[in-house]
Amino acid sequence: MQRVAAVKRLPCSFRGFRVSLPLGRALAVVVPVLLLIIVDLTLFARGRLEPDSDAGSRSLADLLAEHHPEPEPHPDEHISAPTIPLLREYARTVRQGETLLALLAEQPLTHNEALAASRAMGAYLDPRRLRPGHQLLFRYREDDPYTVHSIGVRLSAERRIEIERSEDGTFDATEIVMPLTPIPVVIRGEIRGSLYASGMSAGLDPNLLHTLIQLYSFDVDFQRDVRSGDQFAVLFEEYYDEQGNWVRSGAMLATDLVLHDRTLRMYRFNSDEGPDYFDAEGNTIRKTLLRTPIEGGRLTSGFGHRAHPILGYSHLHPGLDFAAPIGTPINAAGDGVVEAVRNTSGFGIHVILRHTNGFRTLYAHMRSAARGIRSGVRVNQGQVIGYVGMTGLTTGPHLHYEVHLNGRPINPATIEFPPGRTLRGNELERFHQNRRNLERILLGPHLGDDT
Ligand SMILES: [Zn+2]
Repeated sequence: MQRVAAVKRLPCSFRGFRVSLPLGRALAVVVPVLLLIIVDLTLFARGRLEPDSDAGSRSLADLLAEHHPEPEPHPDEHISAPTIPLLREYARTVRQGETLLALLAEQPLTHNEALAASRAMGAYLDPRRLRPGHQLLFRYREDDPYTVHSIGVRLSAERRIEIERSEDGTFDATEIVMPLTPIPVVIRGEIRGSLYASGMSAGLDPNLLHTLIQLYSFDVDFQRDVRSGDQFAVLFEEYYDEQGNWVRSGAMLATDLVLHDRTLRMYRFNSDEGPDYFDAEGNTIRKTLLRTPIEGGRLTSGFGHRAHPILGYSHLHPGLDFAAPIGTPINAAGDGVVEAVRNTSGFGIHVILRHTNGFRTLYAHMRSAARGIRSGVRVNQGQVIGYVGMTGLTTGPHLHYEVHLNGRPINPATIEFPPGRTLRGNELERFHQNRRNLERILLGPHLGDDT
């Protein structure tokens, strides 16, 4: 594995440091990190996607050490430290149905103190919005173990509220937002077998990979278009705290998929309607229906006339068949409403969805519908609605998939979808600027500069 550094910032995606209130000495060393790590998992031998060769190769630890030098201890620090009383901290995770007041009542606090602490927190978070998984940190001074000294309310890895008892016995709250540094990372790989398996072995996060495949499913028929040797690159963010610890992954920013006959790129952009993914011309990637409502399935039967494998006579096969192992999740091809979940002798267990623009989709031979999928329920594009099985008239486990437009079956492989959203004017200008920045990182500094 080789890591290549460049020094460029992504203006679009870098949310600035947000520290709402003083953080104390420990957090005072804010080091602006102008770091980009490009993780190069598979080196492309051929020229076009060759990473910048003179960028050198250094490890993440080296880079962080270089940009986060150990701070010199402040001369006062040694003197003042011992005067801070030692605190013991007890963590209590919020469980389903628990209220802040009930949790405060578990501690040696009077009812009035609990109310005051709750009110103080209310300046930053409505106590009713405390959720299971949030954590309360009760702190006691070692020399006074029966008086709550302060309460931390940990809402996420980067956000907490500190409720502190003041001299006069009242409570004050402050909100602390950890300044996380997003570091763009590029993972490249070559497709061997499926894109999913190749992405996993290249180290892509499964959630990110799921999004990637779903977005590409609008334009790529994974059965026919993707071959071994095709290449992919994904640019996304990893968030690190000030100590250089990884905290969480961020959004996918740009991707490059080089197929044997075309190259497909998409870019995340904060449009006026919120963040979404667009192609290089500023057209939204999303379309009414996914091309392939199943991941990793193998197209075994196309749309058209053929001899029925069981009944023998020639008939119209009004959909596509994807062979896949029993239990493979089936995704809703588009946003819509469940029209029916039925079990018939032909289709076996099947789901019919109704979408906008007169489209309906049908998914047959399921082992079972997914939990909660029943007539009248709203589903989102990509949501799992059932699992591959072999119920009904079938010779093996597969998904039989049909698309109907205004009541007639049409070939899902060749649907012309109504055009989606296209960026224009000012928004398009902002998009192109952002796109060029992303391309420089995704493709390397010498590429993507052509416009
Ligand atoms: Zn079929």
